[in-house]
This record gives sequence, C-alpha cells and structure tokens, in this order.
Amino acid sequence: MGSGQVTDWQGKNVTVAGLGVSGIPAARVLHGLGAKVTVVNDGDDERARAQAAELESLGVTVRLGDGDTLPEGTELIVTAPGWKPDKPLFLAAGRAGVPVWGDVELAWRLRGHDGRKAAPWLAVTGTNGKTTTVQMLASILRAAGLRTAAVGNIGVSLLDAVLGEEEYDVLAVELSSYQLHWAPSLRAHSAAVLNLAPDHLDWHGSMEAYAADKGRVYEGNRVACVYNTADKATEDLVREADVEEGCRAVGFTLGAPGPSQLGVVDGILVDRAFVENRYKNAQELAEVSDVDPPAPHNIANALAAAALARAYGVPAKAVRDGLRSFTPDAHRIAHVADVDGVAYVDDSKATNTHAAQASLAAYESIVWIAGGLAKGATFDELAAESAKRLRGVVLIGADRALIREALARHAPEVPVVDLDRTDTGAMLQAVQEARRLARPGDTVLLAPACASMDMFANYNKRGDAFARAVRELGA
Ligand code: ADP
Repeated sequence: MGSGQVTDWQGKNVTVAGLGVSGIPAARVLHGLGAKVTVVNDGDDERARAQAAELESLGVTVRLGDGDTLPEGTELIVTAPGWKPDKPLFLAAGRAGVPVWGDVELAWRLRGHDGRKAAPWLAVTGTNGKTTTVQMLASILRAAGLRTAAVGNIGVSLLDAVLGEEEYDVLAVELSSYQLHWAPSLRAHSAAVLNLAPDHLDWHGSMEAYAADKGRVYEGNRVACVYNTADKATEDLVREADVEEGCRAVGFTLGAPGPSQLGVVDGILVDRAFVENRYKNAQELAEVSDVDPPAPHNIANALAAAALARAYGVPAKAVRDGLRSFTPDAHRIAHVADVDGVAYVDDSKATNTHAAQASLAAYESIVWIAGGLAKGATFDELAAESAKRLRGVVLIGADRALIREALARHAPEVPVVDLDRTDTGAMLQAVQEARRLARPGDTVLLAPACASMDMFANYNKRGDAFARAVRELGA
C-alpha cells in the first residue's frame, strides 16, 4: 500500500479498528470493494454484538473484546480516529510494517475511484472554531453557485461525501487533530489552521506532537496555506510544511491587512491576498455586521473561511452573500433572551479555556457561569485576562474549585458564587444567582471552559438547561 490510489481491493486483508460511527461504514465500504475485512473492537457489550451481527451477516469477520491483537495476515489497518497511537495494535502494526489509515485517509484514497471527478478539498483545522468556519465556507461556496457540502469531523462522513450519489465541485472539510494524525497522504487544495492551544494532549502525548498533527493539514497544499497572524504557532506550521510550488502563505488578521493577508478596515472585511497587485490594491468582501455573531473570534473565523473561498477563486460578492445567509449552530454564542436589560448568552460549546477566553473577550461586563470537567486544564490565564470584564462569577460542576482558586489569585475582588450541587436543578439556581449579580447592560454568559459530562449528557443538554432556566426568569 504505497501512497497512491489503491485500485484493486479484491481479496486484500484489511483490519478495521473500532466499531462505531467511522468503523461500520468503513467496513461496509471495504467489503463492498472486495476486501477481506476483519473488525476488531475493545468492547463486547450488547450494542457491539448487535452491530457485529449485522456486519457478520454481510460476510465481515468481527472480533469483539480484543482490539489489541493484530489479526494474522493483515495488510492494512483502517482505524477509528480516536484510537490512541500507542495502542498495542498499532505498535504491532509498526513492527509488522502494516500501514494504518484513518477514515479520512481512506476517503482520500477512494476519491474518484469509480471514474468520477474527484472534488478538491478545502480543509479547516484548529483548536476552536472549526465547525463554524467550515459551515461559513460551505455557505460562501454555495453562494458562488458551487456544489459543495460541509463534511468531516462535523458529523457528515467523508466516505459518504466521496462515495455517495451526490457529486460535488469542492468540499469544505473539517478535520480534527486525530483525523490528521491518521491521514498521511492527504493533500488539500488549500487549508487553514485557525488557532493552536493545548487540547487533547493526553492523546497526542505532547504539545509538539499535537501541533505537528495539526500542521499535517498544510502538507502538499496547492494554492494557499491560511494562518492566523495573531497565533504565531500557526504561521510556524506553514513555514515547516512541504507544499506544492507556487502555494502561498495567506494570513488573516482582525487589524488592517498587509499584502497577502485578509483583515478588517473600518468595519469592512478586506482582501489583500487574492487581488491583482496586492501591494497597491484591496478588495472589499463584506461588512463586520454581515457576520453572525460579530464577536472578534467569529470575525476571524469568517476571514479564514473567506480566504479559503478566495483561494478557490470565489468572487467577493459570494463571500458577502454566503456570510449573510449563514446562521451559527446552537449553543455557540446564542442570544437566548434579554431580561430586565440583561442579555443572556449560551456558549455551552465553549468546552475549553481557549474557547471561553474568546467568548469572554466579546463582552464588556459579564456575569460568567462556568465550571464542569476541567480535563486537566488550568485557569490562571483565563482568570487574569478576563478579570476586568467580570461583574461576578457563578461556578457549577465537579472541577469548579480549580476556577475558584484561579479567580482568588487573579481577580480577588470579583464576587464568586460557588454552587455545591450537581443535580438537574443546579442550572436554574446558577441562572438565578447570575441574575442577582447582573446590572442592566451586563451579559450573563454561559461559557463553561469545561466539558459538561459531570452534570449533563453533553454540551447541548447543558445549553438547553441554561435556556430553560432563562425562560423561567422571564416568565
Ligand atoms: P470546533 O468545531 O473547533 O469545536 P466551533 O465552531 O464548534 O469549533 O466553536 C466551538 C467554540 O469555540 C465556540 O462556542 C466558541 O466559544 C469558540 N470559538 C469559536 N471560534 C473561535 C476562535 N476562532 N477562537 C477561539 N474560540 C473560538
């Protein structure tokens, strides 16, 4: 299995690692291509057995309860992206010289395999803002009349996009650091790394390894490597990448853009990269008010999306139309209601400190609701950066003491209400406490900086509980 397209799968011994959202479709597809497929899975519960029975009825072999032994004769492993690189299965594969691909690599290799046109990929990665940016990008591409979809880590499988009925001109692809780790031959048309903050370090092993996996998105880019001028680490990754000749580094900035950059001048999003004579000229793309919500980090997302679209040759007008018709997903800086002159905003998706920091930077005077599962994070920088904006803080969840202590160190004058409960009524009480602290003109902001699973099934449920509590206030 070299780095090229695999055209003959007949009889190839392929091991699929992990039943689940990527494993089951991968097993089906490979089986359909004629490969001899064995699925290995750590778990052996009722659900896994039902899934296994279905695959076995097709003729796929499934081994439950042992995801660590390399099946005899394996020529290729296709793994679920979340499986850690130091798992014994992969160490054994390394010793045996067996390549390991993720679902993204498989999709990449299968592009155009049945003689169809292979749509180029515009790829987006980063610690935060990926989903929003690929959705903005898809909206812009659509406004330009292109057949496209937002796919990848966003919940729409790349395999479906590559092999499904629908034909695309170009794909807006969200990639996680895990997926990039397992996608060695991926070559995007153009790609953006939005930002880089410590996340998932337990999986990657170190910040360097995490950054290196994110940086893979630039490898082999043809037209543009898009980076964030405010985040030097992203620019460093561009410098280190091995790209096609003629591929350009294009920065985005919230300030006035230099040549080869997109940025903002007097409330206008401006392109000085994809214009004739970028030393003299600039092209107006859209207004800041065309971006929803017009928070600084989201303007940055819009600029990154615009840069990728412009790299693909989309006209300026489509950027504006696409941004105007874009609406963000739920729980991402969603305005829930105004009660007594106080705005209530749900950013439950701010599940790490980097996201929460961006969210807090978007408002002047805030009652902040935070807490949950910290996933090993520290809160000193966040507390120090945000201190001057905080009217008060209400803490919930398992790891709230970590935030309380950071606030005591960096913002000792800010009043903190510490809710010592994790039952379902806790959010209602949190919102009531926040209301007590808030003054007219303030924003009550749910931006937990933590995962939700200590109290809620997921961040959606946490945001829903917040919105319900706010509606009770207003009632
Ligand atoms: P991802 O797909 O990377 O998780 P989302 O677009 O779903 O990103 O946004 C997740 C959260 O990250 C948002 O709720 C917001 O708080 C924050 N966020 C979005 N864009 C940015 C950005 N460019 N920089 C920092 N934080 C951001």
